Amino acid sequence: MEVLGITSFKGRNIYSHKPVMKMTIDITENNIYTKDIEGFNEKLLTAFPMLRKNTCGLGYEGGFLERLENGTYLGHVLEHVILDIQNTLGHNVKYGKTRLLKASQILALVQQQSFRKQKIEKSP
Ligand SMILES: [Zn+2]
Repeated sequence: MEVLGITSFKGRNIYSHKPVMKMTIDITENNIYTKDIEGFNEKLLTAFPMLRKNTCGLGYEGGFLERLENGTYLGHVLEHVILDIQNTLGHNVKYGKTRLLKASQILALVQQQSFRKQKIEKSP
């Protein structure tokens, strides 16, 4: 997995009325479902236990857990891990979307953020 770029948007933007961060990643050969990686879900939930209660897009507690058990993409997992870390640090954020861009190996993560505008460029 390679991070191709991260951009923060302060205020309303084309993705949300809330401040968001857009991260573009290349998931390369890791474009597989979580359920197909032995022990992945258990290790993830041990490291980030709050993910068990996450509603995800299903809208009810345990929604993300259900998505994990059925199998979801690593980009989607990354979205929720970033949100979980932000919440652990005291930011009250919930919004996140993972979308396919041009090719099957590129995803954009758009997530609510509660800190100032900044742009991080990929190092050469
Ligand atoms: Zn989700």
